[in-house]
Amino acid sequence: MEYRGIAASPGIAMGPPFCFRQLRFHVEKESAQSAPENVERWESARRDAVEELRKLVVQVDDDQRMIFEAHIDIAQDCEIDEMVRKQILEEGTSAEWAVQKAFGVFRDMLAEIEDPIFAERAADLDDVQRRILRFLGGAQQVRLDALPYPVVLVADDLLPSDTAMLDRKNVLGIVTQTGGMTSHSAILARSFGIPAVLGVPNAIAALENAAQIILDGTRGIVISGPSQDLLEQYRQAQCQAEAHAAAAKRYLRKPAALKDGRPMQVGLNIGGADYPKDCGQYDFVGLFRTEFLYMNSDHLPTEEEQFAAYRQVLQCAGDRTVTLRTLDIGGDKTLPYLKLPEEMNPFLGKRALRLCLEQEDLFQTQLCAALRASAYGNLRLMFPMVGSLEDIDRAKECVRRAMRTLERRGKACNGNIPLGIMIEIPAIAELAGQAAQEVDFASIGTNDLCQYLYAADRLNPDCTEYYQCFGPAFLRVLERIIQVFRAAGKEICVCGELAGDTRATALLAAMGLEKYSVNASQLPALKQEMASFTMDEAKELKQKVWKARTQAEILAQIEAFQDNHKEGVQEK
Ligand code: PEP
Ligand code: MG
Repeated sequence: MEYRGIAASPGIAMGPPFCFRQLRFHVEKESAQSAPENVERWESARRDAVEELRKLVVQVDDDQRMIFEAHIDIAQDCEIDEMVRKQILEEGTSAEWAVQKAFGVFRDMLAEIEDPIFAERAADLDDVQRRILRFLGGAQQVRLDALPYPVVLVADDLLPSDTAMLDRKNVLGIVTQTGGMTSHSAILARSFGIPAVLGVPNAIAALENAAQIILDGTRGIVISGPSQDLLEQYRQAQCQAEAHAAAAKRYLRKPAALKDGRPMQVGLNIGGADYPKDCGQYDFVGLFRTEFLYMNSDHLPTEEEQFAAYRQVLQCAGDRTVTLRTLDIGGDKTLPYLKLPEEMNPFLGKRALRLCLEQEDLFQTQLCAALRASAYGNLRLMFPMVGSLEDIDRAKECVRRAMRTLERRGKACNGNIPLGIMIEIPAIAELAGQAAQEVDFASIGTNDLCQYLYAADRLNPDCTEYYQCFGPAFLRVLERIIQVFRAAGKEICVCGELAGDTRATALLAAMGLEKYSVNASQLPALKQEMASFTMDEAKELKQKVWKARTQAEILAQIEAFQDNHKEGVQEK
């Protein structure tokens, strides 16, 4: 049987399933102890939980440290503390009941926000609650840090601390019933290199009796009871993937170049203060998604808060250019503290720049913070969801207004800060030539451009066959944008997920693209792919691809091309 889920961490795993159900706590409302005793128990359990978390913080690496530090903040949160005490003192409940109630209130608040990021943050609250309940009740914690033998872990849910503490040598892969791409468990699985498929409905019931399962984290598939033939096919694919990943690592510190020596530029996509550590050699920050700063805050970040964050990113980037994308909120990304009108089609509504132009105070705060930071490094601004030349005019006018404000306030900024746009609405792709005259640079947001070009929801798994990033129409649109910007002498980059998809590397190069901006984990494989072909070979591929009628034909051409060039990769 084959089950589908979210391809959260690439790679193949094969082995027996090990099923793990989160420990459920049964909590009594009444308590034999007095209210002051229960308050005392709460304080002591909270102290013990924080102490345990502090010990974890010093044992783990940077990614995990951030998670446990956030857990310490939750455990020490004043509002939760106040609510627990009030519950115990006013209602005379047990400390356990009060903890469950208080954490429940906060979890419900997060759950109301229709955004996967906030839903994932609810998992952090759960994690801390369980830790505190454990100290209160002395319940046995189910541990995953010492597994008996190598297994494919199948869980109803994995908390970030479960994932962080996994017995990594014995966890071949992870399947969960819950979770999404932005969950901490997915982030950690990727950083450990453990293949993972998340969000498989009823995974435990479906897989617990299988002797053997195959997990394909690249395709988001789990297979129970595979035949010997299938196992053999996957074994071969696994060996190939492992060899490929090891070879890619050798490119971490190398500059990007094609096989014929033609230099290319690779940039990073970052999401705020989580500037990736040790991402090797890269040339620029091509996409700084500032909305994460807003999403990780419980209020609209002030100018000072934003200024500090932007400056910090500039410091991490050193001399490199940092492309700060202005707030891209709306659509599937909402802010709990920013009430937006209900929309029938939020992806086609007032998102990103449209919202910023309407809520100008909010936009001015961000622009002032960014412009002030521009005095401290190589910063440039990029506007998301630009659909017309009027949008560009209005965005530029907003920047000028912010500059005048700063001048009045005597604050320094780069008066010639480069201004660019995301090309992710087909209308502006159509006007690329005129748009190029108005801006200093552009970056193609393939994630949105593809969904708007094909009218296929990028979040809906049922629309996958219509969302054709390798479709002939999409590739032609990409080439035209790239060539028009090059002809105008303006910089053009691709920062959507396609830039990190190595199946697209040669085609994009043949179209004239020289700048790719990708997630840090994709950098080595991207540079390796670049080193595997010459420009002439890429152009030959493009010619063949241009004759194809369908995405399937194009992907077949690309596959043949990559197979031919794999052996050609050599270490320089
Ligand atoms: C894109 O649309 O390709 C893009 C990079 O922006 P986001 O994924 O943040 O919408
Ligand atoms: Mg986008």
